Amino acid sequence: MRIGVDIGGTNIAVGLVDKDGKIVATGSRPTEPKRGYAAIAKDIAEISLELVKRCGLDVSQIEAMGIGVPGVADNEKGIVLRAVNLYWTKVPLVKEIHKYIDVPINMDNDANVAALAEGVFGAGRGTNSSVTITLGTGVGSGFILNGKVFNGSHHFAPELGHIVIGDNGVLCNCGKVGCLETFASATALIREGKKAVMKNSDSLILKLAGGEIESITAKNVIDAARQFDETAMLIFNDYVKYLAIGIVNIINILDPEVVIIGGGVANAGDFLLKPLKEEVSKNILFKDLPYADIRKAELGNDAGIIGAAIL
Ligand SMILES: [Zn+2]
Repeated sequence: MRIGVDIGGTNIAVGLVDKDGKIVATGSRPTEPKRGYAAIAKDIAEISLELVKRCGLDVSQIEAMGIGVPGVADNEKGIVLRAVNLYWTKVPLVKEIHKYIDVPINMDNDANVAALAEGVFGAGRGTNSSVTITLGTGVGSGFILNGKVFNGSHHFAPELGHIVIGDNGVLCNCGKVGCLETFASATALIREGKKAVMKNSDSLILKLAGGEIESITAKNVIDAARQFDETAMLIFNDYVKYLAIGIVNIINILDPEVVIIGGGVANAGDFLLKPLKEEVSKNILFKDLPYADIRKAELGNDAGIIGAAIL
């Protein structure tokens, strides 16, 4: 049995995970980042010990603990180098947790951890290499090679959300213009939806948002496109086109067996995947050779705990 920990900006989620990647027990507490890392480390240890006890186990039966952090972690040193949302810089998280529980601890970035879960137990199971792209508020990504996270020489790879796709004039959080994140996040769909209904106030997007521009969601835009609303279809077609360019770039660099699409936007299912696969096939370099299959993620929010447990 292993312990998986998912530290989010809002909640710390902890789970006991068996050898088949199934979560057998979970617990959580609010993160409340302002109280500092020592209190958070103590909570992680306390929830873990509670779960071990609840399942009638002893700590000696726990093989390892893994932690997904919303930032950059140096696993060899057990230090979180940076986690902006937690206000952490060079935090000795592993040492702090070891004050309360004696198990081997590994850490990695939360997007890498989710990609590990998808690659091993989710949509990528049975493959040797997979890239998972999470389309949410931003664009997260992880590259899994032979069952392990590949996170580069300085612990921050891959940041596929920040590969530049084209000059759309949209400033990314990273300070550059035209990152994949500014084209392919849920935030991008919302931004384009709002912009479009200013010009076309009769668009179904606005109706689905209850007539309030500020209430427009990515789902409103997608649902309006499904119902053949012209304004929404234009936005969605562009969205697919630029996401496909990003995926082709990723395939050109890494040539993985599968590209897994997760996050809120992936809930559009085949409405997204079908045109996306078509666009990728048009732009792929070697059209007569096999290349990565594109699949929807399977594990949802559980990926954070499952992936952490198998780090
Ligand atoms: Zn960027």
